[in-house]
Parts: sequence; C-alpha cells; structure tokens
Amino acid sequence: MSKGKFYHPEIERVSRKELRELQNQRLRWQVHRCLAKSEFYRERFKKAGLRATHIKTVDDLVHVPVVTKQELRDEQIKHPPFGRYTVAPAKDWSELHPSTGTTGTPVNTIWSEKDVENITQVTARTMWSFGVRPGEIIQNGFSYGLWVAGMSTHYAAKRLHCFVIPIGASMTGRQIDYLLNPGSTVLLCTPSFALHIAETLRERGVSAQKMKLRLGCFGGEGGTETAATREKIEKGLGIDAYDYYGLAEIGPTFASECTAKAGLHWAEDQYVIEVINPDTMDRCAEGEMGVLVITHLTREATPMIRYWTNDYARYDSTPCSCGRTHARSIGGILGRADDMVIYRGAKFYPVQVEKVVRSYGELGDEFIIELTRDEKAYTDVCTVVCECLKPQEDPSVLERRLLKDLKEELMVTPEIRIEKFGTLERTTFKAKRIVDKRTK
Ligand SMILES: [Zn+2]
Repeated sequence: MSKGKFYHPEIERVSRKELRELQNQRLRWQVHRCLAKSEFYRERFKKAGLRATHIKTVDDLVHVPVVTKQELRDEQIKHPPFGRYTVAPAKDWSELHPSTGTTGTPVNTIWSEKDVENITQVTARTMWSFGVRPGEIIQNGFSYGLWVAGMSTHYAAKRLHCFVIPIGASMTGRQIDYLLNPGSTVLLCTPSFALHIAETLRERGVSAQKMKLRLGCFGGEGGTETAATREKIEKGLGIDAYDYYGLAEIGPTFASECTAKAGLHWAEDQYVIEVINPDTMDRCAEGEMGVLVITHLTREATPMIRYWTNDYARYDSTPCSCGRTHARSIGGILGRADDMVIYRGAKFYPVQVEKVVRSYGELGDEFIIELTRDEKAYTDVCTVVCECLKPQEDPSVLERRLLKDLKEELMVTPEIRIEKFGTLERTTFKAKRIVDKRTK
C-alpha cells in the first residue's frame, strides 16, 4: 500500500495528456464491448447513425445520445428484470445495487466482482485523499441495505486497514454512544444527519473536544461545500469536514475533496466527465455550470455511456494545490435539476436557501421550502420555513433581515415562517427540502 500523501500516485498525478490517452483507450474498449454484447446500445448507436469505430476519443462522445434515468426504467419494464444494458453475463454478477427510488421506481445496477474491486480501490483512494489512514476507527453512518455508499465505504475502510463500525444510518443516540466509546475517529454519513448529530451533542451538553473524532466525510446530498454548512458541521463535531459525491447508476464516491477543500476531484481514470448545457446540449466551457453526463470507462456489468445525471456541476482542469491532476467541480454539486424551484419567474435551488439560513446564528440547521396554492389569487406561494433556536424579543426584526438576505440570494421574495426549535422533521438519510402541498 502507498504510504505517502497519495494512495495511487501514478494515477492521481498522471499528466493530463497521459490521462486523456488512458481515457481514450478505455473508452474504445467499452464502446466495442457494449455494441458487441448489448442490444440496448446497438439500437441507440444505430438510430444515431454511429458505429463503434466512430468513437475513437473522448471528444467523439458528443455525437452519442445521452441515456436518461427514465430510459433505463422503461428498458427494465420492457426487458425485466435488468434491461438489455446489462453487458456482463449472469455468471459474473456479484452484487445488486438499485437506486434509492427518491425520484421514482428504482433502477437496478449490477456490479461484477471486478467492478467491486475497482469501486473499492477508488473509494479507498478518495478516503486517503482527505486524510484517512490505517488504524482509524471508522463509523460508517451511510445506510447499508440497498444504498451504494454503505457497502463501498465499508469495503474501502477495510482495504485501508481501518476498524469499521457498520452502524449504518441508525438512531442518533447510538451514533453518539460509538462516538464516545470506543471513540470513532472518522464519521461518514449525509450532511443533514451530521448536523443532527451535532445538534444532539449540543443538547446533551457533550463537548466535541472530548471526542476523538477528527474527520468526517459527508455525501448522498449536497451541502458540505456550502460554507455555512461546512462551518456548522466542523464546529459542531470538532472535525475537518469533506464532501463526497456518487450516485447509484454510476457508482458510489467517484468524486471527493482533497485536504485543500477546493472542489470535488473526479476519478477521471475510471469515468469520462462531461458538463453539458441543457439548452444547447453542447459541452460547457471549463468552469461553467451545466448538467453532469458520465461515461463508465471500466465498469463491466451495467456500463453507462453518457448517463444524464440531472445534477449540476462544473469541470475545471486547472491545477489543484494538492498536486492531483484530475479535474474538479469547484463548489461541488449545485443540485438536482428536479429540485429547481420556479417561483414568480425566478429559478433557484434549495442549496441557495441553505446558504442563507445556515449563516444565521439565531436559526437552527433545518429548513424546508413549502409550495402551496393561493386559490383566491390563482397563484403559487413559496414559503421558507425554518426554526429559531431561542424565542426572540421582537421576531419581526429577524424576519425582516432574513427576508432581505433571501431576496438578495434568490432574486425573488419568498414568504417566510419561523417556527419553534424542533418543529421540523430530522432525518438520518437524505433531507427532503421541498414540500409541495399544491393540489396537482
Ligand atoms: Zn486537490
């Protein structure tokens, strides 16, 4: 095992030119096998007038039609149970990992034994990059069961010779028990859950300084790269907090921050990362925000060629101070296209509300964006609901300030409602920030 700053120095510090050559070579292998073995891909390429030989480099990918989650769902219904994009034969299947189903019927993804090995190696590499070392006590608060991050993190922690507590996303009280005894040094879970654990520690009067916890990695939803959220997690748990990104159809944790905390590094030796302007379908310029489209370079069982993630991100290959050459999404993942709120002609994401709410010392960490319908005025009403930590002498002062800051960030003025602390639901999983109460 590597013992320095880098887990796989030859891969993490490879020159951009060599990295691109490796990607091109792996892409040609992937496209050839997909077309040889999958009717799903054969049909798509044929419709677009493409043959395997047309795709020689990563730049040629722009001609290939993107694959949406809905197309994968339809394919699974037509060709149950796994669809015809399952390229590896059944004898090579090792694990089934369906998506969480938060946006509809789950999509099945299969990992072969070689896929498990690649995922373990990339996850171990990402954990090493934010400072996990052999001998750590790792509290894995990602849900096991059918959520990809639970298993992959578990395998990677073992690969790094750490001591794993497979607690999953179980009750906050039990999480705190293990943080105190044996005293976990690394915590992995969603950022919402991390904030909830911090809040409970505060309520119980447990000082974060008494714990051995030193690092945390938070994924499954955005938030860690929102400055106010990161600060709350870091202060509340007495740690350095890092962002992690993955998704079921593509793989867990294929992007993570390094200790520079300067954006998510993509694992470009395993994936082609494209950022696409959804209006023109062209590639965005470096650093520009667009929809993330991903191609598997090494995946055997259910490879995706140009999967449309619906998540917004950036691609920036400028050098990072850590010395890794893989490109980054600076600022992390902005949010899912599905989560966009359109209100009075303005468009905004929950992460923008989060940025404002969590910058207030008087407010709790929880918030929701409630959408209702004013039947008399025939208009939609968007209300930001948050919690006040302590009763205010004159609540209107706080309300006015919050309204002004929200208006500035969102470019539209929502309604606001400040509730008593503890009113909103807490979660051990992904937080649901948009509550749509409009009758459809
Ligand atoms: Zn870096």
